[in-house]
Amino acid sequence: MNGGCVMRPTGERLRANVWGRYHVTDECDGCGVCAICAPLNFDKSWDGTYYAVAQQPRDEAQEEAMRAAIAACPQHCVKCEPNLD
Ligand code: SF4
Repeated sequence: MNGGCVMRPTGERLRANVWGRYHVTDECDGCGVCAICAPLNFDKSWDGTYYAVAQQPRDEAQEEAMRAAIAACPQHCVKCEPNLD
């Protein structure tokens, strides 16, 4: 029997995200694909285990990059809530 404590992802918004429409959830595994798609908008955590939205998109090019990140994220954990504008 495994007596260790394992934190399971719940799909909740990571507190590291800046506030706004786009965010990353705790399902992130830190692969970094989102930051390849949108390097101006994502930052790696201090320990490298996850990424979070560091800057909401400021123009259409960054919006497009965020949409690409949503499509490319293998864990489907980059989310957009349009009603947070
Ligand atoms: S692509 Fe998805 S799983 Fe990979 S670091 Fe970005 S948010 Fe996390």
